[in-house]
Amino acid sequence: MIEIYLRKIPMKKIALLSIIAITLSACSVIQKNTSDVILEEVLVESTQIAQREYYHESPKRVNDLIHTKLDVAFDWNKKHLLGTAYLDLKPYFEPQNSVTLDAKGFDIHQIALVKKDGAKIDLKYTYDQKQIVIQLDREYSRKEAYTLFINYTAKPDDLTLEAGEAISDAKGLYFINPHGEEEKPMQIWTQGETESSSCWFPCIDKPNERCTQEIAITVQEKYSTLSNGLMIKSTANTDGTRTDIWKQELEHAPYLFMMAVGEFSITKDTWRNLDVNYYVEPEQEKHAQRIFGKTPEMMEFYSNLLGFDYPWDKYSQIIVRDYVSGAMENTSAVIHGEFVYSDEREFIDDPNEMIIAHELFHHWFGDWVTCESWPNLPLNEGFATYGEYLWMEGKYSPDEAAYYIHQDLIQYLNESRRKQEDLIRFDNANPIHMFDSHSYAKGGRILHMLRYAIGDDAFFTGLKYYLTEYANQAVEVHQLRLAMEHISGQDLNWFFNQWFLASGHALISVDQQINDTNVRLTISQNQSLETTPLYKLPLAIDIYINGEVQKHTIELTKQQEVFEFQTTSQADLIVFDADHYLLADISFEKTDQQWLYQLENAPHYYDRMEALDSLVTSENFVSISRAVKIGLNDTFWAINTQALEHFKDVDTRTQGTLEGHLINMVKSHPKSDVRAAAINNLSLVFDQNENMASRSHIDLYASASADPSYIVAGDALRALSILELDAAYLIARKELKSAKKELRAAVFYVIAKKADPRDAKLIKDEFDQAQGFDILDATNNLLQFLQKQQAVDYREPLNDIYTRCSNLDLWYQRYYALEMINRQLPSISGEFRDALQVVFKKLIAQEKDPRVLRYLGIQK
Ligand SMILES: [Zn+2]
Repeated sequence: MIEIYLRKIPMKKIALLSIIAITLSACSVIQKNTSDVILEEVLVESTQIAQREYYHESPKRVNDLIHTKLDVAFDWNKKHLLGTAYLDLKPYFEPQNSVTLDAKGFDIHQIALVKKDGAKIDLKYTYDQKQIVIQLDREYSRKEAYTLFINYTAKPDDLTLEAGEAISDAKGLYFINPHGEEEKPMQIWTQGETESSSCWFPCIDKPNERCTQEIAITVQEKYSTLSNGLMIKSTANTDGTRTDIWKQELEHAPYLFMMAVGEFSITKDTWRNLDVNYYVEPEQEKHAQRIFGKTPEMMEFYSNLLGFDYPWDKYSQIIVRDYVSGAMENTSAVIHGEFVYSDEREFIDDPNEMIIAHELFHHWFGDWVTCESWPNLPLNEGFATYGEYLWMEGKYSPDEAAYYIHQDLIQYLNESRRKQEDLIRFDNANPIHMFDSHSYAKGGRILHMLRYAIGDDAFFTGLKYYLTEYANQAVEVHQLRLAMEHISGQDLNWFFNQWFLASGHALISVDQQINDTNVRLTISQNQSLETTPLYKLPLAIDIYINGEVQKHTIELTKQQEVFEFQTTSQADLIVFDADHYLLADISFEKTDQQWLYQLENAPHYYDRMEALDSLVTSENFVSISRAVKIGLNDTFWAINTQALEHFKDVDTRTQGTLEGHLINMVKSHPKSDVRAAAINNLSLVFDQNENMASRSHIDLYASASADPSYIVAGDALRALSILELDAAYLIARKELKSAKKELRAAVFYVIAKKADPRDAKLIKDEFDQAQGFDILDATNNLLQFLQKQQAVDYREPLNDIYTRCSNLDLWYQRYYALEMINRQLPSISGEFRDALQVVFKKLIAQEKDPRVLRYLGIQK
């Protein structure tokens, strides 16, 4: 699974969508670090801290499910699934005369034992709405299989679990627009992970269970169906319905069972001789190949890299409405949330390629070899996250790959500031809390270190062995260790103990002494040894002398160690962990001269980024300017954007000499992020300073507002509105119909700023229709618009602002709404100001979350 907030690049966009827009659009009152702090608090809410009172052992195997055969139909009106299940079971080891099945919130109509001749004998059972305990007709040994028949109705929307169990996002089966009254297609889809499949069929809902499956799905003729495995039969019925039978021949875990129903167009692709299909809504058909088209190439890449071919019968991907997560690796039938839809222009800024890679890689790590218990979740998610990097590494430049895996380090280190837990977590209140940057980002980085520690050949041969030896089985982390030990011939307990079975990371400081004949490094591990291991860390040191690089390999094992290296003359630069694979927070003080040398000469992306980041905090403005200048000329886009981030800190004269460079970036840089950042810097540094403002920027922004990237076009339009509002307004009116994403936000921003009374309805309609975070932008626009009006009655719109802002679901949305109103108050006057002040006070008076007031600096 991939949660939306765990996606690397767009994370900011989702959580801070409007905040960023607001910060850019008004002179930035919300400081960026406030946003960061709030974002962290937001993330804390979604990942509660574990408590030591739980221990989750692997679920005990009592009975074993062999085959599940379902026949399902739907009552859309009631949001019910009408099902029958034939379950083939046997005792796992000890003889059993009863069986317990997970089944959440069902009406059970009949439970029977099916005899060989097909006759059904009713069985006694008890049911507490969570589990059915069924008394068998006699005791069975592990050599005797038996078949149960269960006729049931699943009612996911009225699950009657005890209070406190938040089931709304874990109801397993979802009816979208079931009455056909909403402006979206009617769909049904499922979400099993972690233990929600038992909301739609009776099973042993644990990751260490696995069985084969067959599902007959009866739907109205117009709907397509999708499930795991192959469709073996499709029969038109006489009542206008059709029954599709899907069969999954290889065993897999119940949480990977899947169904989807709706009107979809199916784009057919292939990999070797397998069907690779993309299910999208009919009007999105023209985009399907672009969105998913790299899938066969990825299947070939992973099959070759692992020396283990994609093991399932087909590969389908479907995009559904109102999905509860980012995407889910249901065996051979992956579900994606609708954010994956993109037209040609949206695709430029966010192709979602890594989500596709992540879910596909799960088909080896997760679906084929499955974590036996949720505490072992990193065996699924750490691998899927590392799979994203492997694809980057195989397909794109070393800089792109290094940048990508650096984001994992940043993501984990950010999370580590508020929690540090064992990677394999036997203590957690609810497995859903494990879907965090430990299991994903840290898990991926640990695999990267394992690969470094034993070498590429042993690592990939070890993975092949793991996939073969534990083929279609559930495993715990020790099986990964044993596989790697078996292949490499090395005892790897040291590695697994310190990284998988402990918490934290290395906190390293490096102190250098350089003279004419040698280099002396004092290296300390400063992490608290009460909670974190003292690490064994093999790593590389690069010493740069007169344009040559001396490479050394060392191993850290102590809290403090001194290493000495002989040199022929004075070293220019020392690079610690030269391959940049460590999961560590490293501090290494160097002179500006050394950082500049590193920025210009060290080859790795991380070398350049680290040097740039260090130099821009220099007390010497000459160093800052030189670093930014070098960064702007770097061949890699992320170094360019990082340099642009600090362009405002450069001295005025150098800024002036670099203006042409930024203009060229806007015109011709291949990466949209760089073009957008260049526009924002031209606007911020030159246009808002009368002495530096350049009329030539007007034409530049006007033409960039037609840039194919929505981010670039939106930023260009905002920048243009500062210099020439009328010109920006004309473009905004022209783009109004077709603009999406950042360009659409900029269009409404400009129209509100122009404040033509004839646009009153347009601005108000946009406000009325806004949902979620967009309400904040729309409120900002409406206020901007209203304060410039003479004749428009502001009372009703202000009342609406009050209603919508007081009904915002999330505390930080309410905080940003209040912050925005508060920020506008000083710039307006008269009765409008008084009325807005009343709205502000009413919102404050009724606010119950103390965080909102705390961040506003208000005491009640
Ligand atoms: Zn995943």
